[in-house]
Formats: sequence, structure tokens, C-alpha cells
Amino acid sequence: MKILVADDSKLARLSLMKIVKELEPSCEVIEADNGQIAIEKFQENSPSIVFLDLTMPIIDGYEALTQILEINPKAQVVVVTADIQSQAQAQVMALGAKMVIPKPISSEKMQTVLQQLVF
Ligand SMILES: [Mg+2]
Repeated sequence: MKILVADDSKLARLSLMKIVKELEPSCEVIEADNGQIAIEKFQENSPSIVFLDLTMPIIDGYEALTQILEINPKAQVVVVTADIQSQAQAQVMALGAKMVIPKPISSEKMQTVLQQLVF
């Protein structure tokens, strides 16, 4: 299984990757540090799940979400954000995100996400 992790914070990417690898050692994790790269890597790799930050340079998470769903309307995008405002949550759900989870993601939460979206 492939997972794409898009976040401009290297620390955020590393911690999310570490949690995924602990739960699913065979999982291939692909990284993107901005929205533009996220869209390109989504197209190249067709990952099962995309973990997407909202605040990123070049192309932000809202626009990346929109473009990823244009490439594949069935894409499973999980928005991971420190912005817990309900307006931001409602907006990304309306755009087509599968779920919105607060940063930092815990191992328990990741397990729930993987179970809901993959298994
Ligand atoms: Mg960010």
C-alpha cells in the first residue's frame, strides 16, 4: 500500500511517517513538501490515502485537494491540520475530503483512519 504525506513541515512529515510505519511496516510512504509536489506525486503514484496539510507554499491544501479529486474523484484524502476551526473543516469536507483530523495525529487515531479507509 502507498501513502502520500503532504506537509511543508519536515517534522510533521517525519512523525506521521513514523506512526504509519509502526502500524504498517510494508507501507510505502511518499513525501511532498508543498501542494504542487503533492499533486504531481499523487498522479505518479496513485496512493491509497493522502494525508494533506492545509497551509503549504506554492499550492495550498485546499487547492491541492481540489486538483487531486479532479485527477481521481475516488481519492481518499485525509486533511491533517492544526486549524480546528469548524469553518475550515466544513470547507474541506465540502471539497471532498474523507475526514479532517487535528495535528498532531496520534498512533491510535492513525489506526482508526487506516481501518476506516483501507481495511
Ligand atoms: Mg503547513
